[in-house]
Amino acid sequence: MNEFCPECGQRTDIEVGFYYGAAYVSYALTVAISVASFIAWYIFVGISSDDNRIFGWLIFNGLLLLILQPWLMRIARTIWLSFFVKYNPRWKEEPPAVAAKLLVEQLGAAVTVNS
Ligand SMILES: [Zn+2]
Repeated sequence: MNEFCPECGQRTDIEVGFYYGAAYVSYALTVAISVASFIAWYIFVGISSDDNRIFGWLIFNGLLLLILQPWLMRIARTIWLSFFVKYNPRWKEEPPAVAAKLLVEQLGAAVTVNS
């Protein structure tokens, strides 16, 4: 992921541990995709208690989510960032604000320790 938006210069990692919340977005997207693939499997393949077609869906859905993971991770981060950074239609004249709490040297740190 770019550190800054190549168009407007907005920092994408706006505070330490910012993207932990993107996991919740990713989870919601994963559930939505799984429900959609389950419905599609139910319509096109069918699900019955008399055979093992449900396991076919489980394997299919697992592979689908695995293949979609690079896209899911990026779109979840983008959606999460859009919750906190609003679009400014005058972005060419007004440069993006720098977060006051941001400590650049702490970015990317998995754990912060208060001493
Ligand atoms: Zn931008």
